[in-house]
Amino acid sequence: MILVSSCLAGLEVRYNGTHSLNKKIQQLVEAKEAITICPELLGGFSTPREPAEIIGGDGEDVLNGKAHVVEKSGKDVTELYLKGAYATLEKAKKINAKVVVLKENSPSCGSSTIYNGEFIGKKMAGNGVTSALLKRHAIQVISEEQFVEGSY
Ligand code: SF4
Repeated sequence: MILVSSCLAGLEVRYNGTHSLNKKIQQLVEAKEAITICPELLGGFSTPREPAEIIGGDGEDVLNGKAHVVEKSGKDVTELYLKGAYATLEKAKKINAKVVVLKENSPSCGSSTIYNGEFIGKKMAGNGVTSALLKRHAIQVISEEQFVEGSY
């Protein structure tokens, strides 16, 4: 069993009410070979919500208390992002997930790149908060860009 970002399976849970459908991921969910998860909804957000970015580093730095997740209007939402990350970790452990496929670039789910905290659409290398926490617990995290059907 694998765990996948809900938005990759076509669920309209992104901050702006859209999805990021990946048909291969959706098929896995329909075949009951994957379970969907949205760390931000688990953290207590609803859809739509304000866009947020990590300021002062990446998800690792957030876990270390050195960076913050902040909404575009300036509200610090770090605690909710941490709550969603820990809830996702629990779920991954519960289903003994072999791999977790998370949406690239998100402040929660990015696993190679995230936005750089300036809200100008510029990316940088780094993990989102959930990906950083899962990796810290030795859970394999890949993005939809790295996912190859039949490999897991
Ligand atoms: Fe998709 Fe992750 Fe954002 Fe939820 S938190 S909408 S699963 S990228």
